[in-house]
Amino acid sequence: METASTMFKAITLTKDDDAFAARVAELDESQLPEGDVTVRVAYSTINYKDALAITNASPVVRRWPMVAGIDGAGVVEASSHPLWKAGDEVILNGWGVGESHWGCLAQKARLKGDWLVRMPAGMTARRSMAIGTAGYTAMLCALALAKQGVTKEQGDVLVTGATGGVGSVAVAILSTWGYRVVAATGKASEADYLAALGAAEVIGREALSQPGKPLQKERWAGVIDSVGSHTLANACAQAKYRGVVAACGLAQGMDFPGSVAPFILRGVRLVGVDSVMAPRAEREEAWARLASDLAPAVVDSIATPVGLAEAIARAPDVLAARIRGRLVVDVNA
Ligand code: NDP
Repeated sequence: METASTMFKAITLTKDDDAFAARVAELDESQLPEGDVTVRVAYSTINYKDALAITNASPVVRRWPMVAGIDGAGVVEASSHPLWKAGDEVILNGWGVGESHWGCLAQKARLKGDWLVRMPAGMTARRSMAIGTAGYTAMLCALALAKQGVTKEQGDVLVTGATGGVGSVAVAILSTWGYRVVAATGKASEADYLAALGAAEVIGREALSQPGKPLQKERWAGVIDSVGSHTLANACAQAKYRGVVAACGLAQGMDFPGSVAPFILRGVRLVGVDSVMAPRAEREEAWARLASDLAPAVVDSIATPVGLAEAIARAPDVLAARIRGRLVVDVNA
């Protein structure tokens, strides 16, 4: 009698005597880590953090060997968790998966049921990974602006790193919500892409990425910044009186070479956004809004499909900002 294969493909990251390797390997289900839910992954993605892990450019991985992939979407195969049963469609973002727990750039993953979010009505596994942690973080940032009282009547909102994953989805969400969005990018050639996502105006990133004065002309009612460093400092210095800046990223740098002037003289509010350990209720709200507010055609327009092996080859492009939008990984291709 034939038995079903328990082998599956995964991007493994190994470090032996300081020699790092990222490769597509065949693993056996018996090797999967502890967890109360086994997921048959359909799609994953290459976020900035995945690219750092796959290229070993920064110490993202905290246990070796690791299976890469901080995001996954698929179907529950087996569960001993009360929330989940076989056949449920789920999304996984963060929680240290792909860093300290084997990840979802794989055909199988064993995860904790507490980490999973139910696939919202109207969303598909492929589109959820076109959005991924980057897009879910963009929604957390957009909701932060709205919850802090930023309205479209107050004026322009700025999105930095606009052609990146966080930036692309942030432009699409904010414009869908009726805000006038100004997109800052280093890719002048992508002005049409950003306009199609809903940007009313596109500015060069160099206007923000150089050292600037502590207080500058007031321009932004709200900002979503995935770039950090001088860009974040200048965004704060250009925020309007009582403007709100949501900071989630460090594509330019982890430093924050700013001053307190915008906060103490203009009442500017700086809101930090973390997606990795965000509580379940906030994740569910973000995913429900992503499903209801983002047109499927918009999500499709930011996505480039790749297979598992190609995902490794494209990771350096993500770090070098050579990608527009998001790479979606079909783990069975
Ligand atoms: P991407 O690589 O898709 O996008 C980053 C974008 O930033 C690039 O496309 C580019 O946009 C811009 N950029 C890159 N390098 C520089 C630079 N030196 N100076 C100024 N701008 C630059 O990454 P993601 O959108 O996936 O992630 C963006 C950032 O957000 C990362 O730092 C990531 O770690 C962080 N992040 C944080 C999360 C959290 O939970 N806090 C969750 C998800 C992401 P353009 O060419 O248009 O200027």
